[in-house]
Amino acid sequence: MTIRLGCIADDFTGATDLANNLVRAGMRVVQLIDVPSADDRQAVRQAEDADAVVIALKSRTVPAADAVDASLRALSWLREMGAEQIYFKYCSTFDSTPAGNIGPVTEALMDALGADFTIATPAFPDNGRTVFKGHLFVGDVLLADSGMRHHPLTPMTDSNLVSVLGAQTTRPVGLIDHKAVAAGADAIRARIAELRAQGVGIAVVDAVSNEDLVRMGEAVRDLAVVTAGSGLALGLPTNWDIKPSPAAARLPSPAGLQAVVSGSVSVATNGQVREFLRTGRPAFSVDPLRIAAGENVAAEALAFAEAHLADGPVLIYSTESPDAVRTVQGRLGAAEAGELVEQTLARVAQGLVACGVRQLVVAGGETSGAVVQALGITGLRIGPQIDPGVPWCAAALPDGEALHITLKSGNFGGPDFFSASLDLLNEEAS
Ligand code: ADP
Repeated sequence: MTIRLGCIADDFTGATDLANNLVRAGMRVVQLIDVPSADDRQAVRQAEDADAVVIALKSRTVPAADAVDASLRALSWLREMGAEQIYFKYCSTFDSTPAGNIGPVTEALMDALGADFTIATPAFPDNGRTVFKGHLFVGDVLLADSGMRHHPLTPMTDSNLVSVLGAQTTRPVGLIDHKAVAAGADAIRARIAELRAQGVGIAVVDAVSNEDLVRMGEAVRDLAVVTAGSGLALGLPTNWDIKPSPAAARLPSPAGLQAVVSGSVSVATNGQVREFLRTGRPAFSVDPLRIAAGENVAAEALAFAEAHLADGPVLIYSTESPDAVRTVQGRLGAAEAGELVEQTLARVAQGLVACGVRQLVVAGGETSGAVVQALGITGLRIGPQIDPGVPWCAAALPDGEALHITLKSGNFGGPDFFSASLDLLNEEAS
């Protein structure tokens, strides 16, 4: 089978966000970590069994030429897999600078596809992102009055997306305003025809509700490429007669032993570790100072895990209070401490999988990246949602075995996230 929708996301969590929305709208989705190498048969096999593939790049804040290059490589892989429509996904706060990267990547994709027209909308009303008269609102305030004004890498000081995007593109940028969007797919198509006749290449589209996104989805079915936040995902699957269904999130049945690896130091994760300890489950604390002193902490952690894994989930964690983390950082340096802990936890994850762990919860954004890389995972089939934006996934290990994994960054999840997520995975399967 060939894939329907080929998606290119400009960062990892944004990719997961989009994948999650597509699954909720009924598509079976695989998220790939970067563009697969030419010999990655695993990625091809996973993609062949999906309606949509989301390739996660790290192209949001790199130089525009690099973002274009990576996006075009993703495009050719997706086209080779038969993708019928391309979805360029960026942040719902339109994170970019006058140099890009939203504009340059959009135009490069249009050029490669021979497309003379596309849309742009970061609207995601469920998350408080709405677009009206081309202006982006974050909750109740305009983008330029939100915290994004002071973002260190992509400060957003203009809320008018027509002018923001116009500054990044060579093609004229226009607007499909709410009057057309509210009137339905035919009115949107008529407005597209009008803008095309005027020579407009990219149109910002207003959307203040999910219904707006659904109407928009229907109207853009024939565009070779669309560009949006993750909200438009709600409106596209029906173009292939795909409806929301629990089957979209079904993963292979979980098997094997259970473990949690936590290198997150955020407040929510501290609470989750405390809760796990409170319930008397086995947990091993990884001390960065002992790693720095040359002790083989990973081996100790694995010996501890092996002794307890048969009885249920085991937690290996470096999570500490902000004060304790500051002390360690003061002694080792923040970057050095982070690197040491990430490497150790990645080795622990490898060892756990070697011991038969096949259900793994990972806490921490950076930690997740290190673990996924160490395990050689290149693709994740997206399963049921545990918490908004945090799904269970099924990954193929390099030897073809399945690993159920969830990657929880920072402040996601309630206090009982670790055991609740494992319970949910096994309930879904039963
Ligand atoms: P989060 O998603 O909560 O920000 P991350 O994994 O992205 O979690 O980042 C946490 C960083 O802190 C990682 O680089 C990790 O290695 C580092 N770290 C984890 N535990 C400690 C600790 N006890 N002392 C110092 N640094 C730590």
